[in-house]
Formats: sequence, structure tokens, C-alpha cells
Amino acid sequence: MSTLPIDATPSDAQLAEVRTRIAYFGRLLFDRQLTDAAGGNISVRVGNRICITPRFAGQQKQWRIEPDDVIVADLQRNILQGAGALSRETHVHFTLLNTYHAHGSAVVHAHPRNLLVFAALGRPLPPILEANRKFGVTPVVPFAPAHSELLAQHISGTMRGREAMIAKHAAAAIAPWHGVFCIGKTLDATFDAVERFDNNAYILLMGGQWAGAAAMDAAGHEMERIIGSFEE
Ligand SMILES: [Zn+2]
Repeated sequence: MSTLPIDATPSDAQLAEVRTRIAYFGRLLFDRQLTDAAGGNISVRVGNRICITPRFAGQQKQWRIEPDDVIVADLQRNILQGAGALSRETHVHFTLLNTYHAHGSAVVHAHPRNLLVFAALGRPLPPILEANRKFGVTPVVPFAPAHSELLAQHISGTMRGREAMIAKHAAAAIAPWHGVFCIGKTLDATFDAVERFDNNAYILLMGGQWAGAAAMDAAGHEMERIIGSFEE
């Protein structure tokens, strides 16, 4: 996707490209059980515009949204293109993309099947695979109701200090009893990160069942010891 200066107004062709990618990734999230019909939303900042999935993309469209369904808004949340209403987690998306735009351009909120277990238990997600080491431990924020401004403040606050991680790939936070919010360099990178987090959660759950939680803790420490000090 093309990158624009953050205060530039994108052309309709640039917006169309972004809206097409968002519709594509919405379908992919749902089909790969990285979100459910009840929720999730995707946004991308392009110049001084934010493209975001419409409200009820899951519940009413089962994530079969078309590029024209994707809303285009200005940074003050005024809708410029698209027929629907803004996604219900608008606060988080706009807060993240207005605060961290120098580092990340895309936000995915999702209800990934395996990661939801961590959300339900209020457990941070430690890396257990090499592909996840770069993210460190993904934190759980204090509770705030879904769709609230307070939730946006909590999620945004936890990204502070992780700007370099966002610029390099992505960073995420778990909302208790709810789901995950992830901001990344690009939409491709952000989707990739959400899938990595859910795979990592799956490994911890399955490994915990099979070998026990202590063995998974030991495996995590062993990964750090071996990979962290590896020299060719
Ligand atoms: Zn949600």
C-alpha cells in the first residue's frame, strides 16, 4: 500500500486500494477464526484519512464486506465516504492512529479463538515461539467496557514505550473478557501479528494440556536461553 505524508489528503484511487485491502483482511480474519461474527474491526490511516470497517460487519455481513462498505473518515471522525456507521470500537482505532501515526498505520481489533482464553482469564501472553519473541509479553489492560473511551485510553497507554516495536512490526494489548487490539506498521504486518498471537496462544493451551503449565514455562525460559544467546 502506498504511504503518504500524515497530513496529505489521499486520492480516491489510494483510498480505494486501502478499502479493498481492508475488505480482504476482514474476510480473512473471520475465515481463519481470528475473529467472530460478534465483533472485530480493522482500520488503516492513509494521510489525513482513516479507513475503517463499518458497524456490524460481522453480525450483519458475516465479514463479507465490499470495499465500498469500508468507511472513510477524517481525523475528527466525520464520515466522508461509505454508507454505514463507524465501527463501535472507533475510540480505540482513532486514538491509536492519531497518537502513534509516526510508527503504525493499521489497527486490528479481533476476538481470536485461542487468545480469548487468555482474555477470559486476564492472563498476559508470553512468547513461546521464535516468531513471537520480538513482541515480548503482551499485556492485559485494566477492565473498561467495550466501545468506551476509557478502553481507548487503556489500550493507547500500554503502547507507550513500544513505539519501536510498532514501527518494526506490531504491538498488542489484551482487553479482559473481550479480545485483542493490535497496531502495526502496515495492515499486512498487523494481520500477521494477530495470527502469530493466536497461534502462540494455541501452543500454550495445547502444550499446557499435554505437558502441563510448568513445562510450558520451562520451554519459554529455554527458548530465551538458547535463542537469546545463540551465536553462529
Ligand atoms: Zn470486540
